[in-house]
Amino acid sequence: MSHAKTNPANPFSILVRDLVHRPGESRDSELTIIVPEKMGEGMVAVPEGATLNADMRYESLHDGILVSAEVDTVAVGECSRCLKSITVPVEVDIQELFAYSSDEAFEYEVHDDHVDLEPLIRDAVVLSLPFQPVCEEDCPGLHPTTGEELAKNLDYDFETSTDPRWSALNGFEASTDNRDRGNSAGADEN
Ligand SMILES: [Zn+2]
Repeated sequence: MSHAKTNPANPFSILVRDLVHRPGESRDSELTIIVPEKMGEGMVAVPEGATLNADMRYESLHDGILVSAEVDTVAVGECSRCLKSITVPVEVDIQELFAYSSDEAFEYEVHDDHVDLEPLIRDAVVLSLPFQPVCEEDCPGLHPTTGEELAKNLDYDFETSTDPRWSALNGFEASTDNRDRGNSAGADEN
């Protein structure tokens, strides 16, 4: 594993000169990119400045370079139910051919001696982002009218309903009453 040299103007631009038109050749590398532009527009997105790591494999084929990537990064945003800030790990596997031909049949092309991974990685990452992210699988969300978090609301209901400490005190008062009555009864006897 070696760190691929990246173009500072476009960190997703990878030199593949050593593989072009050399079918059978392949190379593995690790790619670390500081995300230059936010990925995603939904409730969660990979922010500008996030670190994106990718285990890359480039294989030279007759018609192009087959690029495989295991991408690992983190998206941030809000829980779609309670709006709490959340981070969502993003892991996505990609495999696409970058063709030598500029035929429209191929979505991605080898540009002279390099491939531009930006659209490939961006599309895969954005597609993998959850549409309705949640802080926890069973997040109860917000009360539809008060807007309070429902979990808090449940605590509130619990406190206003009969508190066991008050029940114990009520029982104590009841027994005191009984004893008082007993004492007064006893006093009557004396
Ligand atoms: Zn939530």
